[in-house]
Amino acid sequence: MLHYDLTNRLPVDVDGFYGNFGGAFIPEELKAVVRRLDAEYRKCISDKEFLSEFDRLMHEYVGRPTPLYRADNLSRKYGAEIYLKREDLCHTGAHKINNAIGLGLMAKRMGKKKVIAETGAGQHGVATATVAALLGLECDVYMGAEDIRRQQPNVARMRMLGARVVSVENGNATLNNAVDAALAAWCSDADNAFYLIGSAVGPHPYPEMVARFQSVISFEIARQLEESTGRRYPDYVIAAIGGGSNAAGAFYHFIDTPGVKLVGVEAAGKGIDTDMSAASLSLGYEKVLHGARTMVLADDNGNVQEAYSISAGLDYPGIGPLHAYLSSAGKMDVLAVTDSMALNAAFELTRSEGIIPALESSHAIAALEMMRFKPDDIVVVNLSGRGDKDMSTYMGALESQILDKM
Ligand SMILES: *Cc1c(COP(=O)(O)O)cnc(C)c1O
Repeated sequence: MLHYDLTNRLPVDVDGFYGNFGGAFIPEELKAVVRRLDAEYRKCISDKEFLSEFDRLMHEYVGRPTPLYRADNLSRKYGAEIYLKREDLCHTGAHKINNAIGLGLMAKRMGKKKVIAETGAGQHGVATATVAALLGLECDVYMGAEDIRRQQPNVARMRMLGARVVSVENGNATLNNAVDAALAAWCSDADNAFYLIGSAVGPHPYPEMVARFQSVISFEIARQLEESTGRRYPDYVIAAIGGGSNAAGAFYHFIDTPGVKLVGVEAAGKGIDTDMSAASLSLGYEKVLHGARTMVLADDNGNVQEAYSISAGLDYPGIGPLHAYLSSAGKMDVLAVTDSMALNAAFELTRSEGIIPALESSHAIAALEMMRFKPDDIVVVNLSGRGDKDMSTYMGALESQILDKM
């Protein structure tokens, strides 16, 4: 069994700032709650018993380590050594469970009776509902009405697991509105309830906690690469960024490793020259959203703009402060991938490797098409989740033949 190294390697200061980004911009009534959370977190993350329970659940329950698969067919096509980190094989079908276990164990230790979560694609809702069932906690999941419509299989799973799925009708009824609603619910019940956030966003210490629990991904990549290639680090790590948790986990142990290029892929929706995208790094402004200063899609008057992406998990107008910092400091390259590029990549991966990816992960696969490699480059793409939840979108695309290569 692996013993994960969750020590802090993030470029974050004591106030939770990553350069200009991050911090904790929260209402007065939450300040004491967040202070207690921070103190409990520092205790947990250095406590042997907590860490060994985390290691055990990663191994026996989540199914870690997930494979690092050398994709020979993709490698031939792109002229590099391409590896897929198979987070799609985690229990519940995506990386979200890694963080949900870490935060769930904390909620339990703090004596909380209930967890509150928001969800977009439904993957974090399912992960939270799963952990709540496992640990005997009540669970309320806030989800935009539009996302409830497009992610039915995950809604059914949450209900079966015993969670209450709360439909959020505000705005364009997607993830941004669900986060607002979950934060409000937490504010009004902070003594009983633990906010189990689903991405590397929100007020400090949430982005740090989420990144450190997700760091299991890059911890494994380094060891698995060493075993198969003799080298502990790749030339490229590519990951899709919604709020940034799977990317943070895949980058974590390589953030300061010379020679490793980090590539974050955001959703360009219908194109970054339209007003229908979720490309907060390419198009956003510095602004406070959901408790942190970060890059946010906003209109000319500074109002937060609704995001758009075919992928519910990337359909968010902000991004975690770590990624805003990495991008502004030139430590991470940013690519923007459109809906149709992502759909094409999903079919390409499925037909060439027999792996049906989540729409979010398909954005990372599509980035390969936009890059140029040397034949001996080692490229790791983080395959954040599996595509079961997106089958109706994929079949719709097949029927309307918007795929240019099929
Ligand atoms: C939620 C989700 C994402 C996007 O969230 P991050 O926090 O940016 O990782 C990506 N892929 C899958 C499969 C997801 O479920």
